Order: sequence, then structure tokens, then C-alpha cells
Amino acid sequence: MIDSGAWMSDYRTDRIYKLERLLEVSRNLNANLDLEAYLKAVIEIASELTYSQETSILEIAEEGDHLHYTAAPWYRIEKLRAISIPLEKSIAGWSFTHCQPLVIQDAQNDPRLFKEVDRVLEFETLNIVVIPMVIKGQPIGVMEAVNKIGRTPYTEEDVSTLETLAAQAAVAIQNQKLLDKAQAAYRQLLELDRMKTDFIAISSHELRIPTGLILGHASLLQDEMTGEARAQLDTIVRNAVHLKDIIEDLADVDHFQTGMAKIRRRQVSMDRLISDVVGSYQEMSRERNISLRADISKASLVIEGDAHKIRIALGNLVKNALIFTDPGDRVLVCAEQIPGYVKVSVIDNGIGIPEGDQQRIFDRFYQVESHLTRRHGGMGLGLSIARGMIEMHGGRLWVESVEDKGSNFQFLLPLNTAQVNAAQKVFLS
Ligand code: ADP
Repeated sequence: MIDSGAWMSDYRTDRIYKLERLLEVSRNLNANLDLEAYLKAVIEIASELTYSQETSILEIAEEGDHLHYTAAPWYRIEKLRAISIPLEKSIAGWSFTHCQPLVIQDAQNDPRLFKEVDRVLEFETLNIVVIPMVIKGQPIGVMEAVNKIGRTPYTEEDVSTLETLAAQAAVAIQNQKLLDKAQAAYRQLLELDRMKTDFIAISSHELRIPTGLILGHASLLQDEMTGEARAQLDTIVRNAVHLKDIIEDLADVDHFQTGMAKIRRRQVSMDRLISDVVGSYQEMSRERNISLRADISKASLVIEGDAHKIRIALGNLVKNALIFTDPGDRVLVCAEQIPGYVKVSVIDNGIGIPEGDQQRIFDRFYQVESHLTRRHGGMGLGLSIARGMIEMHGGRLWVESVEDKGSNFQFLLPLNTAQVNAAQKVFLS
């Protein structure tokens, strides 16, 4: 007579063991194993839990017309890798194309059995279960278990065990594919970045001498000419100066990149520097009918820094504020001393910057509007140069902006070297 209590207890122990093994597979999915090791563990557990002679995993080939083995017992994998399984006239192919599990208890009499595998391995497939591996409704391969030990038929429980394992294997394969894609994209980005860097270095270097010569000779001729010829030369000189400014921007970027840019610290009166910069943009602001003024909280704001570089940084911010603000609007430059720093803000009530672009505008060549459609000139270098110059001082430059309302570009400059060192210590600790 069957002892039903003992049978139930064996059944439970068996179930618990199976669940524990399945749990192990899910845990390993997040355990950073490499894909090959992970899939090897999955097929071993699949064979063990379904009492199969062997289990393997096949993935769809890039061409999409056949399956190939990616995991199988170590003593078979080499031979199996050389075989392509056609989607038509194979059991694996049927399960893949129909996206359905397939259980065949008498494989030798099934016309779909692809006999080439048995022939190459000198093996005989007796019964087989194939489970499609599916990601977001799309099959990416199959898992197959063959020859249940003891020649017993495969059961529904075997199918559901294999389904659980196939789903985990599919996620692992997909994760690896995404990781490979992300790494390839990252490598491509690095390459593009290198090309940008080379382009900047070469163009700034090669254009400098001819532009200098055009400017020099045209300026000499300017004094000799009168009337219409003089007007033509003025245009040439004006544009050559513009070209020279662009080349200087490129050279500045190149110097940051190569680490050649250096700060020459002297006492800088920030209030005077701000008044100078604001003064030099008065003509542009008048032409654009924009009110531009400075508001400085203290008569004397002195820091140790490189006036030339700070002037370039502030100039770029003021120029942008005037460009991206409509006639009739206003631009305000404020400065105040806060503990250890001078804080400067360039505030406009212009077009503002969409939130998604607010970090990227500091990248080299980045412009919110596409270069082809934009109404304003520029190369997308001004802000990256400004940030570079402020950061070289141990300072920080950032923006707060609301689209259609305006922008507030702010920077902090340390008062002196002691302050820079103290800030760096805090930063490093
Ligand atoms: P560019 O010289 O081409 O304008 P920048 O690096 O100076 O390059 O600026 C990058 C982009 O950031 C600009 O093209 C513009 O889209 C945006 N931007 C900069 N300043 C402002 C501002 N004050 N208001 C709105 N958009 C701005």
C-alpha cells in the first residue's frame, strides 16, 4: 500500500528543492556573471530539474534566417557552433517561428527533426522539449532539452520549469546585447570627441597665420584708401577681425583640452572689470534696443585672478544675453561678495533655455537651435570657453532658466588662492 503521507512529504521536498534552484538562477541574473558562465549554469540546472540528458540554447542569427547554438554542454559546444539550424524543417525553428513551446515524445518519427545535429554528434534524439525565448513579444532564440532520462515522457511540469529558465536566459542575453550596444555607442562617441578635438587643434593652428596676414595687409591698405575702396576695405577688416575672434575661441578651447591654458593671478577689481565689459557691449545693446546695465553691491570687489580670462567669460555671457533677448527687453549684470567668493549674475528676460538643454549648452559646439535653422551666428563654443575659464580659477558657472521667461547665468570666483585651496580640500574630503 502507498504511504500517502510519505509521498506528499517527498513531493514537497522535491518542489522546494526545484524552487530553490530556480531562485538561484534569478539571483545569478543580477550577480554580474559573464553571459557565457550564466547560460552554462542555466542549462546545467535545466538538465538537472527536468532529468534531461542535455539542454542547450540557440539564438537567432543576425541574418534572421537560422538559429545557432550559444550554450550547450562543454563537450559538444564546439561541434554545435559549426551547425546552422534552419528555421524551416527543424523542431527548434518551428518553436521559434510559431513562438510556442513544442513537446515531442517520439522525435525520430517527427518530420521536423533536423537530423544533421544527430549525425554530427553521433547522437540519437529520442524526445525533446523546445521553449521559445521571448523579449517584448519577439522571439530571440529557443531553449531545448533532449532525452528525458529513463525514456519517460516529458511532463507539463518540465515544460513550465524550462519556461521559467528560458525567460531568465532571454533577459540575460538581452541585457548583454544592450550593454554591447551601449559600449559600441560610447566608443563611437569617444572617437567623435577625438575627431572634434583634432579638428579644433588643426583648424585654429592652420587658420591663424593666413588670417593674421589678411588682417595686417588690409589694415595697412585701409590708411591708403579713400571713398568706395576704403568702405570695401573696412568690410574686409571687420570680417577678418571676426574671423580672428573665432580662431581665438578655437585656440582657447584647444588650450583647455591640451592643458596648456594657465591662470596668471593678479589683483583684479571685479567692479571695474564688470563696468568695462558692460561698457564694451553698450553699442550692441543700443543697436538691439535692449537696456544693459550693471548693479554692483559694493564699491570695491577685489579678487586674485586672471583679468583677461574673466573678461572673456563675462563677455561671452553678456553677448549671449543680448543675442537671445528681444528688443525692448533688459539685461542686468549683478555682482556681490559672499563668504570666500565674488558672485556674478548675468540676468536677461529673453527666450530662456528648455530644461533638457540647460546642462548641454556648456558642451563644445552645442546650440539649442540647430546650426542650420538658427537666426544667430556663433559656433556653440562661448559657454564652454566661459565655463573653462571660470573653472580654471577654481570657480563654478551655471545657469537657471525658464523657457520664454529668461535666463540667469551665475558664476562664483574665489577671492584668493587660499580660498581656492580650501575649496579644493572640502571638495576632496
Ligand atoms: P553660441 O556662440 O553659438 O551661441 P554658446 O556656447 O555661447 O554658443 O551658447 C550655446 C547655446 O546656449 C546658444 O546657441 C543658445 O542656444 C544657448 N544660450 C546661451 N546663452 C543664452 C541665453 N542667455 N538665453 C538663451 N539661450 C542661451
